[in-house]
Amino acid sequence: MKAMILKGYGGLEQFAMEEVPTPKPQTGEVLVRIRANGVCYHDVLARQGHFPRTKTPGIIGHEIAGDVAELGAGAGGFKVGDRVALVMKDHCGHCRPCLKGHDNLCQNTGGIFGEEIPGGYAEYISVRAHALVRIPDEVSYEEASVVPCAMGTAYHGLHAIGKVQPGEAVLITGATGGVGIHAVQVARMLGARVIAVTTSAGKTDFLRQHGADEVIVSPDLEFVQEARRLTNGEGVDVIFNIVGQLAWNAALKSMALGARHVFVGNLNAAPVNLRPAHAILKELFFLGTDGVTRGEVETLLELVRLKRISTVVGATMPLADVVKAHASMESRTSLGRIVLTM
Ligand SMILES: [Zn+2]
Ligand SMILES: [Zn+2]
Repeated sequence: MKAMILKGYGGLEQFAMEEVPTPKPQTGEVLVRIRANGVCYHDVLARQGHFPRTKTPGIIGHEIAGDVAELGAGAGGFKVGDRVALVMKDHCGHCRPCLKGHDNLCQNTGGIFGEEIPGGYAEYISVRAHALVRIPDEVSYEEASVVPCAMGTAYHGLHAIGKVQPGEAVLITGATGGVGIHAVQVARMLGARVIAVTTSAGKTDFLRQHGADEVIVSPDLEFVQEARRLTNGEGVDVIFNIVGQLAWNAALKSMALGARHVFVGNLNAAPVNLRPAHAILKELFFLGTDGVTRGEVETLLELVRLKRISTVVGATMPLADVVKAHASMESRTSLGRIVLTM
């Protein structure tokens, strides 16, 4: 098969299209002919060497959709030709988190696709059957590839972890990114009032088109005054913090009494300061969210089919154009997910 190999950590020159052996499905595995792979900012960071787990030379990419091409021994539930999306991380199905439905927290497998184990920048991937979810006929491969990571991370964090209620004010940092723009849509779908924060005034229309009720343009991430003004001085009910420490001080001061702060992203990997009295006197909640469960991916694919929510695919391009896709992500000129097709 053809695969876009990441030869080592570094710049765009590290990618090379090569002919490699097509994987053979092992017991319980399903071979998937990949049709689409979403390009995540995680992939850019992986290429640059920020995740030491990433194997090189290797195949990165974890936002995968395609067709079942072959079944390994004992692999049930699917037949050749089924259209499937991959949950971004494999799980064992029998550990404590898996049995409690928290399969996103399973530690018994190779983790996220495209790090220690091969990913989606290729024509085929072999995975265990329970990493797969069937794609409804009305949903395209490109849409389906974006659902588990970009939309799923937003949905798990806002719905299962943040427990967003109708009418609540939700502030989203990093709102124009892949997870961010889907978080805007998920928060809207959950009935919240959506306040999107962006560092770039040029992206205001894009945010409004996708469901933001209010947009705060804040190049220095000092959005406290605006957040308070928009909520009659009370502050917001939920912070969905995709940026991390860079937005922490403003996020903390923007929280209403009893508000929740959900940590989603960690762009500069720096720690945050918190005085316990601040959390005690305002009864604040600080939560972390990681990925999405298989059940949530199924739910979201159905919601996409019903057009209750839509994916934001900004561009599609062939796998051979991976350099163009990464360059566009790195320069932050892309809007919505770029999806590679093969
Ligand atoms: Zn991703
Ligand atoms: Zn498990």
